[in-house]
Amino acid sequence: MIRELIRREAKRVYPEVVRLRREIHMRPELGMETFGTADLVVSALRKAGVQVEKAAGGAGAVALVKGAKPGRCVGLRADMDALPIEEENDVPYRSKVRGVMHACGHDAHTAMLVGVGIVLNSLREHLSGAVKLIFQPGEEVGKGALAMIEDGVMDDPKVEMIFAQHVWTELELGRIGVRKGACMANMDEVRIEIEGVGGHGAYPHLTRDPIVAAAYLITQLQTVVSRTVSPLESAVVSICRVQGGTTFNVIPSKVELQGTLRSLDEEVRERVIERIKAILRGIEAGMEVRCRFECRRGSPVVYNDPELTELVREVGEEVLGEGSVEEVEPTMGGEDFAFYLQHAPGTFYRLGIKAEGFEDKKIHSPNFDLPEEAMRIGVEVMANLAFRATSA
Ligand SMILES: [Zn+2]
Ligand SMILES: [Zn+2]
Repeated sequence: MIRELIRREAKRVYPEVVRLRREIHMRPELGMETFGTADLVVSALRKAGVQVEKAAGGAGAVALVKGAKPGRCVGLRADMDALPIEEENDVPYRSKVRGVMHACGHDAHTAMLVGVGIVLNSLREHLSGAVKLIFQPGEEVGKGALAMIEDGVMDDPKVEMIFAQHVWTELELGRIGVRKGACMANMDEVRIEIEGVGGHGAYPHLTRDPIVAAAYLITQLQTVVSRTVSPLESAVVSICRVQGGTTFNVIPSKVELQGTLRSLDEEVRERVIERIKAILRGIEAGMEVRCRFECRRGSPVVYNDPELTELVREVGEEVLGEGSVEEVEPTMGGEDFAFYLQHAPGTFYRLGIKAEGFEDKKIHSPNFDLPEEAMRIGVEVMANLAFRATSA
């Protein structure tokens, strides 16, 4: 019965969700600066009578829908930030901000969560417990979730479990993707500085060449994954930036490298970092250079609680029909949703947006777009999930 009511309500709010998503799409904001987006969220929720709790995380917002019956407190999270990409789409809702675009679907995530809030609020006499709506800035820069948590978003009332959905271009519209356990990678940024002694390119014996050292280092780093991580485990070591030298006949004194480390297991993460340090010691001894190593820790693994993932599967199949939920492979992409999972169990699932006319619209691309119909589905699935989880 409640499923029918949710379906009806999701249909009713759909035009508002579309309108809101288009408005957010036209006014994209970067990183931790999503103040205007948060304002749109807050006014849409207030207009529908949803209790908005407070600002949080700088440019974030939190709202609470309290059910009429006792139950559990469930968190639902949306990210609000855009990307530094110039939009190429020629649509009426094209970005009005030069060089900034919603190319990861966070506009849709935000609009859907507002829709879910309105649906839950209108059905709150049937609802148990409470649902906390968490709108965060700065997912793409990996800072938003931490800022929200620091502002106490997981407490008072304490969030007992948390869910988030992400639009997924590789998954058909009308389908949900779930994964039990590790589903997205931890990610760390490494900076390595190799310092030698510069000099004339014709007299290399008088120098300690950091370029040759960097070349050996990059090659040796390829053995970290292939020779220290089990073939049955996953890790990535990618050096993505190399900077050194000014001209053809001067050996520079310094080379800087930057890269990213990924894995699906915290123990593998530590082992990879230790191996890199050991290789650097070898380079120092063998090449007579000095290496400085800095590892900036990013988000941990997104670990999906098996039981709650099963709940998403059940709800997805009920709402979308049998066979519409698939088990998906993990990816080596990262998500700062992982930080919430350090405070409460939860799961991060994928919402299919692959449809005719959208095949070439990949995430983080200047032509990214999504079939809006996906948002009606996303609202309905998430609202059902909230009902089930609060009364579990
Ligand atoms: Zn993204
Ligand atoms: Zn994203």
